[in-house]
Amino acid sequence: MAGMEFKDCIVIGAGPGGMTAALYLHRFHRNVTVLDAGNSRARWIPRTHNCPGFPGGLSGDELLSRLHTQAVEYGTRVIRATASQMLPVRGGFQVTDTEGERHHGRTVLLATGIKDALPPQPWMEEAVACGAIRLCAICDGYEASDNNLAVYGPLRSAFEHARFMRTYSATVTLVQSDDVAVDAQLRQSAEDLNITLMTRPRDLLFDGTRCVFAEENGKHHHFDTVYPVLGSRSQATLATALGASVDTKNELVVSADQMTSIDGLYAIGDVVSALNQISVAVGHAAIAATAIHNVLPQNPRSPGSACSKRNMPL
Ligand SMILES: Cc1cc2nc3c(=O)[nH]c(=O)nc-3n(C[C@H](O)[C@H](O)[C@H](O)COP(=O)(O)OP(=O)(O)OC[C@H]3O[C@@H](n4cnc5c(N)ncnc54)[C@H](O)[C@@H]3O)c2cc1C
Repeated sequence: MAGMEFKDCIVIGAGPGGMTAALYLHRFHRNVTVLDAGNSRARWIPRTHNCPGFPGGLSGDELLSRLHTQAVEYGTRVIRATASQMLPVRGGFQVTDTEGERHHGRTVLLATGIKDALPPQPWMEEAVACGAIRLCAICDGYEASDNNLAVYGPLRSAFEHARFMRTYSATVTLVQSDDVAVDAQLRQSAEDLNITLMTRPRDLLFDGTRCVFAEENGKHHHFDTVYPVLGSRSQATLATALGASVDTKNELVVSADQMTSIDGLYAIGDVVSALNQISVAVGHAAIAATAIHNVLPQNPRSPGSACSKRNMPL
């Protein structure tokens, strides 16, 4: 690797996690490369109401834009590229992107998130934008309080989710997406919890404001909000290709300072085995960036160093 310039850290992913990590690392006077494929889950958020410090809420796009502006103020530059391969090399890691560009870092921080499995209908993004489809009850179950709710997915996981949704509404229907038989115990539990059961519908439709499940017999059922629970795909392959440990959902297992089982490879946010929330991703970022700064060789300032932000007003 002679002649190669090694950055202190390569951050892969510029969602809330990656951008917060880049901000922290630059504020430790570290040099960082940020690679991003430009598909943060946060961009699906019509308006988040549980992001601390934003009474009235804000859209996912606005949050991403604010995080970007803040990190850029300290020197972050995001390269629009998809990392396709990561190899351990002498002195750190080599990350190759899909354009064939190679990036070298003493450490790597993976903030690549997950991808939701969604029903295949072409109107899905429009339905998410108006709240007819919601993907995360912890995020926005409150906003769906007392609505006529449906949870759509395989029987077992949909039942657990429907039970959770009873915190928010007295009217919850479990719409089964698989053919698993409903046993007597589950039927009784559903009855006890006042959860209506609907077996595999013929179609899922959208009328512009609400979703509708059509049954074989032609009956249509309208819901204010549908929560699909069809799973998600963890975007951890760069790390798993190196043998990094994962949980049963293929999400990365990390130490208390966010390091994966691979020395020098850190992971934060949704790609990690933890609660998938913005505040968790930014918390992970603070922990990981501080740990990375502390394991890297010290970077003492020289007397002539000039920090462009030194004289900023408080
Ligand atoms: C509809 C919806 C509503 C939500 N509402 C809320 C809410 O109200 N409150 C809340 O706390 N959370 C909410 N969430 C969850 C929240 O969006 C995520 O927890 C958060 O975005 C996770 O941040 P992250 O940085 O880990 O990942 P992400 O934001 O998903 O960012 C990952 C980034 O990595 C990039 N990437 C992936 N692979 C590569 C690669 N190989 N090379 C380069 N780049 C790559 C992606 O393109 C993406 O830009 C919601 C999610 C959805 C879908």
